[in-house]
Amino acid sequence: MPDVDLQAIRVKQTNQYVCTVCGFNMVGYYTEYCPFCGAHQRNFIASEKCSQRYRVQGTRVNEKVTRLQSVPSLGLEHAAYRIETDGGAYWIDCPSSFDARLDPVEAIIFTHHHFLGASNLYRDLFLARVRIHELDSLHKICKPFTFDELFTENFKIGEIEAFHIGGHTPGFTFYVFEDVLFICDYVFLKGEGAALNPFGPPVETRDGFNKMMSLIKDRDISTVCGYRYVTDFALWKQRTDLIP
Ligand SMILES: [Zn+2]
Ligand SMILES: [Zn+2]
Repeated sequence: MPDVDLQAIRVKQTNQYVCTVCGFNMVGYYTEYCPFCGAHQRNFIASEKCSQRYRVQGTRVNEKVTRLQSVPSLGLEHAAYRIETDGGAYWIDCPSSFDARLDPVEAIIFTHHHFLGASNLYRDLFLARVRIHELDSLHKICKPFTFDELFTENFKIGEIEAFHIGGHTPGFTFYVFEDVLFICDYVFLKGEGAALNPFGPPVETRDGFNKMMSLIKDRDISTVCGYRYVTDFALWKQRTDLIP
């Protein structure tokens, strides 16, 4: 465990609030309505209380990948994923609740700016570097969060490959690690079919999706890790092929 000042994190938590409707963390401020989902402040809880009420549970996806989510479920929170690489452990995205019992990671890398979770607190706890695409870092809800690295191009970190496709958000980036694809909320599964995330510009989202499919077409992907699902790639592909 790195040498961290837990007391300083607790002090920060006294001025941090979590919207239980969407999981958004208000860092250092409190508003009447949630800046992310618009829920009324009666739905907010202090970060410390959130840590008492929720814990972060890890569910194995495979030997090296674990899905992380708050238990009990915390509103619209999107799953984060922990990846063990030969070069260290990383998170893709970040849980909304702060659970100091989790194992440390080298860095927290974001698909996009929608679910930054308690990344500011985990950054302090793990002494981890936080990375996001520069275009998403510009959004006003990101202001109170600290990013250590703003990337603007595709990159590779600890065997994880990052591909910027934009679309759903301007900086949206998907990741590939070995045979696993990480796409957060780019694609929703609905009934027997699938749909592209409707909360964004539809034409750009479609373009980004096409770009992603062409980037992975020669790869041997077996699993897709999404915001609320982990599924077999072949089945997911069959469903996404039907998207008009
Ligand atoms: Zn909210
Ligand atoms: Zn999103």
